Amino acid sequence: MKYIFVTGGVVSSLGKGLTAASLGTLLEARHLRVVLQKFDPYLNVDPGTMNPFQHGEVYVLNDGAETDLDLGHYERFTNCVLTRSNNLTSGQVYETVILKERRGDYLGKTVQVIPHVTDVIKDRIRELSDESKYDVVITEIGGTTGDIEGLPFLEAIRQFILEVGPENVVNMHVTLVPYIKAAHELKTKPTQQSVAKLREIGLQPQVLICRTERPLDRDVRCKLSMFCSVSEKAVVEERDVEHTIYEVPLTLHAEGLDKLVCDLLHLETPEPDLADWRKFVERVVSPSKHVKIAVVGKYMDVRDAYKSIYESLTHAAASEDCGIDLKLIDAESLEHGIDAQLKDIAGILVPGGFGVRGIEGKINGARYAREHKIPYLGLCLGMQVATIEFARNVCGIKGANSTEFDKKTPEPVISLLEEQRGVRNKGASMRLGTWPTQIVKGTLAEKIYGDTEVTERHRHRYEFNMKYRDRMYAKGFVISGTSPDGTLAELVELRDHPYFVGCQYHPEFKSKPNKPHPLFRGFIKACLKRQLDRATHAGADQESLHRVRERELVPQR
Ligand code: GLN
Repeated sequence: MKYIFVTGGVVSSLGKGLTAASLGTLLEARHLRVVLQKFDPYLNVDPGTMNPFQHGEVYVLNDGAETDLDLGHYERFTNCVLTRSNNLTSGQVYETVILKERRGDYLGKTVQVIPHVTDVIKDRIRELSDESKYDVVITEIGGTTGDIEGLPFLEAIRQFILEVGPENVVNMHVTLVPYIKAAHELKTKPTQQSVAKLREIGLQPQVLICRTERPLDRDVRCKLSMFCSVSEKAVVEERDVEHTIYEVPLTLHAEGLDKLVCDLLHLETPEPDLADWRKFVERVVSPSKHVKIAVVGKYMDVRDAYKSIYESLTHAAASEDCGIDLKLIDAESLEHGIDAQLKDIAGILVPGGFGVRGIEGKINGARYAREHKIPYLGLCLGMQVATIEFARNVCGIKGANSTEFDKKTPEPVISLLEEQRGVRNKGASMRLGTWPTQIVKGTLAEKIYGDTEVTERHRHRYEFNMKYRDRMYAKGFVISGTSPDGTLAELVELRDHPYFVGCQYHPEFKSKPNKPHPLFRGFIKACLKRQLDRATHAGADQESLHRVRERELVPQR
């Protein structure tokens, strides 16, 4: 078994997760079986309760684990399917240690960071060390070298290397090499100091991944090599990508990273075949046409808050040889008057969310999509607001709402299951992870999926209230997918609309490059069709439809 540890130096937000994931892509392309894991030094047990403003999206795994968004990169960039053992926080580590202590497992010993905390951390690396499944475990350590919180993790790695032998381990340090304008120079000192900090703990990196705006010249490489005790060919340049994050594996390969790592780990592997990946990147970078899509949400200034959704749109668009002009609309701004903002939009997507802020704006967005026959994709909360909108404005169910936003609503079209069953005891916890959906034959959903049984990932509390099913169906609101026992609505669509789809789950967690999710792909196709129809109808110049933008507009890291 081989191990790669990825640490970060100098500053956060260097894209360590992407770098780790990209190395995963390359090693898989060299026919190695790879698994990735993230250690997060914060004390929350998981990021489930953290605010998207601070922490970006919560990425949900098949087993229902609510994890760091880097796990999204791991699953998108590799074939691994992750579980809760792939994300460990200090909160979990201490929870484990304290529970053990209370049970008396430590037999009267004094419980300490070394060895008890570090033992728990090492156990989690070993848990993945299953040679029948994997060849390489890549472990990314969150935070920045020098953080107090990160110390137990680094100490655990030091011990671990001693136990498995240094010939089986590569330490990769992702660092910043800033360009100082006044001096016209790239500066190596921050990296030197960061590596010195690692050495203080007893860790020597074998590879430096240098995040930089400018190319590293020979001098800089020599200096980094000399002062950080890293061979010159292991000073790897990772320049800011020009267009899309999917370029990262290609640029790292061009720098020879995958070969270098395999050599360091004494692994003989074939040269990687990256043709499909390259093709995908080409389609993302220079599509033949563009489509304008609005995302109506709450965290429009936080690029990471809807990360998987933006990525899923990119995957789907690339599969249609199309780029996306993304218009990010703050839901609250749609509360009064929306025409100006949505006028020239080819599709509207409403993402998931919690809490009442922005709800009426999202409902207005759904209404606009329904009335103007604009393709609509509602994800989780996006499906719930579409339901409320239809109930209120088409079925005349005044006051229709979700009990999440109005506990006493007379018409709870979305509610907690417990309330539907008349159970008073609240505290329903979330429906998390993968659940099966049975798709109704003859629906648009069946056409989109080309299947009647699918599984999708969930993260929500409230459900469609089946009491309203018939009344809404009569007006054209179709439940096109349910749980296998038929009690939970999973997918909805409108009968008299080209593409109005809402799902109670999160398809964005299952989309990948070259494997776009059917709901996103169907959405993009419908948007393109609308754009084309409208242009033809209005006699608009075709040129504008096919213009190639200089840059992809999907937010990058
Ligand atoms: N707040 C809604 C619920 O809990 C929707 C959740 C979501 O969009 N993830 O049911």
